[in-house]
Amino acid sequence: MNDTAATGSSDRQRQLAANLAQVEERIAAACRDAGRDRADVTLIVVTKTYPASDVRLLSGLGVRQVAENRDQEAGAKAAETADLPLNWHFVGQLQTNKARSVVRYADHVHSVDRSRLVGALSHAATAEGRRLGCLVQVALDAESGTQGERGGVAPDGVEALADAIAAAEGLRLDGLMTVAPLAGRYAGQPRAAFDRLMEISSRLREAHPAANMVSAGMSQDLEEAVAAGATHVRVGTAVLGVRARLR
Ligand SMILES: *Cc1c(COP(=O)(O)O)cnc(C)c1O
Repeated sequence: MNDTAATGSSDRQRQLAANLAQVEERIAAACRDAGRDRADVTLIVVTKTYPASDVRLLSGLGVRQVAENRDQEAGAKAAETADLPLNWHFVGQLQTNKARSVVRYADHVHSVDRSRLVGALSHAATAEGRRLGCLVQVALDAESGTQGERGGVAPDGVEALADAIAAAEGLRLDGLMTVAPLAGRYAGQPRAAFDRLMEISSRLREAHPAANMVSAGMSQDLEEAVAAGATHVRVGTAVLGVRARLR
């Protein structure tokens, strides 16, 4: 529940702390079940639609990795919290004309899905004198040569895009990201979807050993992602509450 307006900030802090503790316990349990080290999974808290004041409270609770999916909202929040030790991850569909803005605050872009965007990000990062971590977003349900409805490149397009990122000035190829498909053969099968992503990741790492980030799993399916081998889970609702329905 987003009842920030109705309650004081210490109530909100208690609520966020309790939610974070629950998510932490879920990740720890999933790691135990999978025989994985808890330190091998990083929680990224997705703060979209929630105010900078929540980001500040989360930072006070020890959160260091935060994500947003819209440049305008992200840029404003990052500016308001510039005094905090946060790493910003951009996880939404990204227009090339926003590249310049995103590289100013983002450490990682998880949603690189076409070569024109690689060019724009490279140009922008170079102009800012920054090195931007990039993940190829994989649309597991997209047909060969097409894009996913919510962004992402079809699995057979990953290699070319990864090579382009690795060769681009100002960019660093860090790994892969996916969102479990809601339709198609992976609908309702997050574990199968994440296993497929891990296969693609293994193949990618043969050519690019350092590209070992696997960003998968959200509030609903983080256990499946950890079981499959995800290194980063992106959790919004389970930490901040159900978002107002605007996206
Ligand atoms: C919003 C969002 C998330 C977090 O989703 P929740 O279901 O709220 O945990 C993760 N990844 C992406 C790309 C998102 O847009």
